[in-house]
Amino acid sequence: MASTFPDGPLFLLYVRILCHLGNLDVRGNSNFRITLVVWEDVWLSGNLTGGPWAAQGFWPFSWEAAYAYPGDLSASDEGLKTQSHTFPPVIELNVGGKHYTTSHLTLVKCKDTMLSAMFSGDYSVKKDQNGRYFIDADGDNFQYILNYLRYGELPPQDVANQVYREATYFGLHGLTEALEKSPSFLARIHRDSYRTQFPGYQRLINSIIDKMAKDSTTNCSTTSHIAVVLFAKNKQPKLSTFDKNHWCIYKAQNKRKERADLILGPWSNKTTEKEVMNCIDFDLKEKGFNITHEVLGQCNYRCDSPPDYPGQPTVENCTKTFFRITFHWWKM
Ligand SMILES: [Zn+2]
Repeated sequence: MASTFPDGPLFLLYVRILCHLGNLDVRGNSNFRITLVVWEDVWLSGNLTGGPWAAQGFWPFSWEAAYAYPGDLSASDEGLKTQSHTFPPVIELNVGGKHYTTSHLTLVKCKDTMLSAMFSGDYSVKKDQNGRYFIDADGDNFQYILNYLRYGELPPQDVANQVYREATYFGLHGLTEALEKSPSFLARIHRDSYRTQFPGYQRLINSIIDKMAKDSTTNCSTTSHIAVVLFAKNKQPKLSTFDKNHWCIYKAQNKRKERADLILGPWSNKTTEKEVMNCIDFDLKEKGFNITHEVLGQCNYRCDSPPDYPGQPTVENCTKTFFRITFHWWKM
């Protein structure tokens, strides 16, 4: 059904602009339908005459626009105007509560962006109570959007991922393309694809955090621990009595027995358990947790050959590796 609609980023862009200017709630089907009717009549009449999409309803767009515009959109259609608007050469902006001053030329410098459309004169733009043009976006990151428009300057690496989100929001394709080649963006893409090699990896990270969230209501100490068992390969035991479904345990001398809280494996490449643990460590730290980890050893489960075992009595051990992750709550 979506293929019968006019496609391409331009269309989505203008759906966004209408949402922005008109503040219509695109997540409600009925409001969105009104938006499109207005849009069709007013803005693109002649370009999209009739067409199967008009007759088939608007759900796919409703979804797509809601996806592109996850923020809260309140209702009023005052912003949609057809007459031409003029803007002063110097523009005072209120972007998500932060104030900027820039030139009108800067805002319309890159064609086919949300900003160039907003300040094209085809629409009226909402103002705040002090007369500044209002843009509902992240005020801190807007400085990088503005500097890109002014000088073609790329943001620092540490904010590249946040600015990428804003560049997508404003439809600044030149900036998104440049950021897609930046080291931090490429590193993120690389890490994302690296993690997919380990089935259940993201679930493990979520489970670790869930467990810590529960622990924080019952544990009154300065640290929390979690025992994670990792194994690269599935062991094929020789002894038929070896319990493949045993609960992994670890017991150091003079220490109490530890049971595995969470387990991850096997995976089909040569990555070692230690390397996967380093990846978990990195991801938890990147989320802001102060953690350390240590390898405890191999699971202590052992299976002795039964008395009727043919040949020499033998023992089989579990080879899964125990790690302990410690969360430090007083050293953030
Ligand atoms: Zn085990």
